[in-house]
Order: sequence, then structure tokens, then C-alpha cells
Amino acid sequence: MEEIGETHESADGGVLSPFHEHPLYPTKDSSTPCVGCDGDETAGKCSCHICEIYVHKDCLEIINPSNPTYHLSLTDRYGKLFRCSICTSISYRYIYLCSFSGLPVCEKCARKPFTIDPGRAHEHPLLVFLKGSFSFPCDACGVNDAKSCLCLCIPCRFTIHRKCVYLPRVICINRHDHRISHVPRLGSGNWSCGVCRKEVNGMHGAFSCLTCTFAVHSRCAIRSNVWDGIELEGVPEEDPAKNLPFKVVGEGLIKHFTHEHNLRLINEDDILYDKSKQCHGCVLPIFFNACYICTHCDFILHETCANLSKKKRHPSVSRQLTLYAKHYYGMDSFSWDGPFSCFVCSQRCSGFAYVEDNGGRPGFTIDVRCVSIYAGFVHNSQPHSMLVISDDWSVSDRNKCSRCGKGGNDVWCLTGREDLFMCYKCATIPELAMHKYDVHLLSLRFSENAIGDYWCDICEKIVDPHKWFYTCDMCSTTLHIDCVLGAEPYLRVGSTFKLGRFVLEVLSNDYASRPRCDTCSSRIEDIVVYKSEDVYFCSLTCIEKNPRRAR
Ligand SMILES: [Zn+2]
Ligand SMILES: [Zn+2]
Ligand SMILES: [Zn+2]
Ligand SMILES: [Zn+2]
Ligand SMILES: [Zn+2]
Ligand SMILES: [Zn+2]
Ligand SMILES: [Zn+2]
Ligand SMILES: [Zn+2]
Repeated sequence: MEEIGETHESADGGVLSPFHEHPLYPTKDSSTPCVGCDGDETAGKCSCHICEIYVHKDCLEIINPSNPTYHLSLTDRYGKLFRCSICTSISYRYIYLCSFSGLPVCEKCARKPFTIDPGRAHEHPLLVFLKGSFSFPCDACGVNDAKSCLCLCIPCRFTIHRKCVYLPRVICINRHDHRISHVPRLGSGNWSCGVCRKEVNGMHGAFSCLTCTFAVHSRCAIRSNVWDGIELEGVPEEDPAKNLPFKVVGEGLIKHFTHEHNLRLINEDDILYDKSKQCHGCVLPIFFNACYICTHCDFILHETCANLSKKKRHPSVSRQLTLYAKHYYGMDSFSWDGPFSCFVCSQRCSGFAYVEDNGGRPGFTIDVRCVSIYAGFVHNSQPHSMLVISDDWSVSDRNKCSRCGKGGNDVWCLTGREDLFMCYKCATIPELAMHKYDVHLLSLRFSENAIGDYWCDICEKIVDPHKWFYTCDMCSTTLHIDCVLGAEPYLRVGSTFKLGRFVLEVLSNDYASRPRCDTCSSRIEDIVVYKSEDVYFCSLTCIEKNPRRAR
């Protein structure tokens, strides 16, 4: 709080005030405005002979008309910007500080009763009480904190935080697919917040879904990492049909927006496993899932991937994401057409991507496997808890994936397990996989209370049974995850992309004698090779390092 001294007269007739270190003397100069009110009337004007500061004597301290206990003293804070606690306008350097709360108030607000236009929050003007006066739960957000300014309509007993007066009315947040709107009261019931998961008191204002049962604390809903800042009141809702990814063109026949030919539905019972078939959307094998196959070419999508909505919300980004099937990025000196790097799992992928619309430029990009992980998701490794987003931002540095050690913001917490975290890469390791070592399907195991040693049948190195690994129940094989999936599990075999002057094809490494990498000359060990005309590469790194890459 600001120490308020007394204004008094110096021996030579100057004014000494806490506002300025030197005495101020009466002046008739009208060319420089008063730093308090910006006016140029000469009556009562003083100036400092050393600093060229002009100010009206009456502008040094203002007693607010609505409350004589509010003394507002002009203060000089060189280099600082202030936001008025009443009208939120910004001032530079000179501001009035309230003797009671220490809060900044602009000159215009200091001179009139502290009232504001209630906007859509209430039907009468609201009286503003600077902080510290008293505390009541806010009718709009339910929070009772003495630290925030409160506004009151006394006849109505309506109390609202200054910062809650202009809460948005209808918004979309990244934790829910429907619009939510602010309601003065949720009503009775056991409400839990869709963002912080804590209880929401139904007697106060909150956001609730217009379509289903979903509630969010007013303050949780407008966090910058939850809400994109767009008010949707009065904005007509998008026609949901616009976001449908395909049109039905016949019985079991669709036209998907990502492909030029019609696709035919193949049901689960009709699927014959073909290990070369990978979904063009998620890049995972089709296995026994229903899928849509192209009537003309090798394009294929899981039924679930064909149904992915063109628009999505994701907890890692506040703006809406749009589904794309092709990617193009200009990167430094080479262009990259095809695989992209998923922002949350950091793995390269040649399938579909959800991309944040960042003013025409591609922003945040996430693959469709990672999009399928949501708050409340139950991962089979932890069947008794749910993946949730940490509400405590301060611990996000400490959150490290319990399996791989990856840290950062995109790591999930597990309910009831304060010691466990899971990253997107680990959460999306396929539960089923194939490898030419074993003719059967391999399944992901999360831990085994085993005595004795396990060995990976591919690399012949030890497998830790307490960690995740693949196994075949028929053959009792144990295999490292990395050995089964290879270095780039989400680059589809058969896909092509351009890197510099190379047009590369991703091929299975099924050669009788393993080809040599053109860059590092070693025999290629990975489960795929990258082929460009008659040369082979072992990895994307070796393609990038190749001297002939540049055009
Ligand atoms: Zn003035
Ligand atoms: Zn509030
Ligand atoms: Zn009222
Ligand atoms: Zn909340
Ligand atoms: Zn798929
Ligand atoms: Zn990903
Ligand atoms: Zn991990
Ligand atoms: Zn291995």
C-alpha cells in the first residue's frame, strides 16, 4: 500500500507533496497540460522549476464523491503502465492510487462515483468497491476472495467481481465439443467442473452446455489455455452437417472429403488380415476392424477414422482444429510434403492431421491417434484411473511420463495416482502389432511379475518385464516395443514424400540382402527403408544429411 504523506507549504511558498520530490510553485504557463487531468487552465497550476512538471494543486489528491474515505493521490511511476481498476483504461506514468486499497484509478474515474455499466451481467448500474472492503461470493463465478474488486447492486443484493462483469455469454472451450453458455445458476445437483474436475456449486453462476450435461467454473472456462477468446453470443451455430467428413452415395458406399474415389464399407466379419494394409488416416494396421476401402485404388480408412469430424477441439490448444489429409510445410531450404511432426507426441506421421487455424498459416498440428486421447480416457495400463490434465501449472515441469521420462505440458496425470504421468507417445502405443518375426498378432503387455530373464527375440537383448513390451501368447515370444514398431512407426509403408530433390517411397525392409544407406553406408536394420530411384536411406536423418539432397 502506498504511504500517503501530507501536502504542505514550503518556507518559500512552494507546495511540497508526496507526489514530487521538489517543491511546486504557482505558474501562469498554459502551454503544458496538467499531468493529473491533462487540462491547461492556469488557475491553481503549479510547476516544478527543476523537472518541468505541471500539475493543478487540486489534482494532487482527489476525494472520491461516492466515498469520502477513498483518498486518491496522484503518483508518478516513470516507465510504468497502469490499468484503471474501475474503467480498465490504460494510463502511462501518472495515476491515482487509492489510499485504502493501493489500487490504481484514472483521473476521470477518481472524480465521479465508482459505478460501472453492468453490461449483460445485471439490469442496474453497479457500484465498485475496491479490494479489501469486504468479501462475498461472486454471483457470477461463486468464488469468495478478498483480493478482487467487487461490484454491488445493493437493492438487488447482487454481488459480482469487477473482472466477472464482462464474462462472455456463449463460448466454445477446448475440453468440450458443444457450445457452453453462462448461466446465473446451475441449479441443484452434483456438478463437477469439466476443466479442474472440482465441485461446482449450483447456487452460483457457471458455464453449462447447451446440448448435454456439462458444467465448468466461470473462471476455469475463460482461462487462456481453455478458451479461444471468441464470444459466440448471436453467432449462429455452425451447421453440424458441414463438418461431416463424407456423403453416403449408396448402400455401404461413401465419398470421403479426403479422397477422390468412392469408398466401400467392409465389416469386421469380412476382413482378411493383410499386414501390408495400413489406414491412411491413423497409419495403424487395419487388423480386424471395420474399414472403408477405395473402389479404385489402395486407399483405406478404418471406419472410425472415416468418421472423424472435420473440426475438433483439443486440450492442448485453445483454437479449433481442422482435419487435413495432406501436409505441406516450407522448412528452411527444403520442402516437406507428406510426413509432419505431431506437436504432442513429437512423432512423425504420414496420416491425417488436425491443424490449428493460425491466421492462414498452419499452427499446432496433431495426429489422429493423439486426438483420440481425451480427459477421462482410461488407459489399459491403469484400468482404475483416468487420464486428466493437471490443474496445477506449477507442477507441469515435474510431470514426466512414468514410462519414457518425457516431460512438458503435454503429459497427462492419472487420477488417484499422484506418482504417475503418461505422455501421448506412450498413451498411443498400439495394443496390437505385427512383426515378421512372429506370424501371430502381438499384444502389448504393461508389466509382468516374472522371475527370471526375458529376452527380446528380435535384438536378443534383455527385456525388463516390469516395463511395457509386446508378446505373442502362442509362441511365448517377448519383444521390445521399439524393435517391433521400428524408428518411424507412423510413416505408412507405400507412402511417398519429397525431401529436397529426393522423391522418397517408404518400403518394407523385406530384401533378401539388406540394402545399404546412401548416406551412412551401413546395412539398413530398421523395418522400413526409404527409396529414391535407385538409392536407399536408413532414416530421415540420413536423408536430410545427404549431400545430394539440396536442389
Ligand atoms: Zn489538473
Ligand atoms: Zn466472480
Ligand atoms: Zn439491481
Ligand atoms: Zn473448474
Ligand atoms: Zn485408422
Ligand atoms: Zn501424436
Ligand atoms: Zn512416455
Ligand atoms: Zn529388442
